[in-house]
Amino acid sequence: MHDLNADLHSHSTASDGTLDAPALAARAKANGVELWALTDHDELSGLPAARAAADAQGLAFVDGIEISVTFAGTTVHIVGLHIDPRNDELVAGIDTVRAGRELRARQMGDGLAKIGIKDAYEGAIKLAPNPNLVSRTHFGRFLIASGVAPDMHAVFRRYLTEGKPGYVEHRWAKLGDAVRWIRAAGGVAVIAHPGRYKFTPTEEYALFSEFQAHGGEGVEVVTGSHHAGDIVKYTDMALEFGMLASRGSDFHDPGESRLDLGLLPGSQPLSPRLTPVWSRWTAAELRTGSAVAVDALPE
Ligand code: AMP
Ligand code: MN
Ligand code: MN
Ligand code: MN
Repeated sequence: MHDLNADLHSHSTASDGTLDAPALAARAKANGVELWALTDHDELSGLPAARAAADAQGLAFVDGIEISVTFAGTTVHIVGLHIDPRNDELVAGIDTVRAGRELRARQMGDGLAKIGIKDAYEGAIKLAPNPNLVSRTHFGRFLIASGVAPDMHAVFRRYLTEGKPGYVEHRWAKLGDAVRWIRAAGGVAVIAHPGRYKFTPTEEYALFSEFQAHGGEGVEVVTGSHHAGDIVKYTDMALEFGMLASRGSDFHDPGESRLDLGLLPGSQPLSPRLTPVWSRWTAAELRTGSAVAVDALPE
């Protein structure tokens, strides 16, 4: 149960990943993933193809999403797992979150034009397979291709983060709304990569307690964004708050991402003291069309 190679955080071409569903499913299978979730940003359209591709690979699959939220003036990501992608409340909710992206992208282009970088909006759009989901990652890829910066780390630091020319302040979903939509769709809400946020301890405590008060249940302990110290810290936080623990690579692209799909830190399993989020789902629920045996899961 604890040593299941679950990768419950990844992105496809439906958001800011560069691989499509069949390529991701094949990669997950090749890397030994035993339970896979696709969690595109504010977007559900990739899920049917991902489930079909997982079925074709005989890979157990969970429908997921990563919702952008603004909490205490900071962008926080909430992953929803085992959601029903057809749920009206969820669909309507994330439509409102996505709606602001187009204008924001134009403003990002304007900001970059002011420092002499031309046509960044057009360039980013061309790199975004889903026109409804233009993200900073697409701008990053355009700026790297234009030779303005050497890699994603540099491009975000110089151009795409707070105070930088391509950064546009944006109001995403409210924490309580994101959790409510996920729960309405029958899913489990999980705080994504908590080690990435620049909160004070008080703000972080507020995030965890408000999240729980709204019905949020889980936290990512092992993720592509966490170093060894973060894994220890969020293991303790999960225990302190009595939260379910999740693990996921946050894979976007073979060249860009710190971790490959399914190849998490030292193939690190969750601490046996934790309750894995997948303990919520029975093997029967997770079995795909081609009847995979997920031996490590409850019957
Ligand atoms: P957006 O939702 O448009 O603000 O884009 C957020 C995405 O940008 C994240 O999901 C990551 O894929 C990527 N991202 C954010 N910060 C960084 C960073 N410092 N380095 C590389 N990628 C980042
Ligand atoms: Mn992303
Ligand atoms: Mn994220
Ligand atoms: Mn992500």
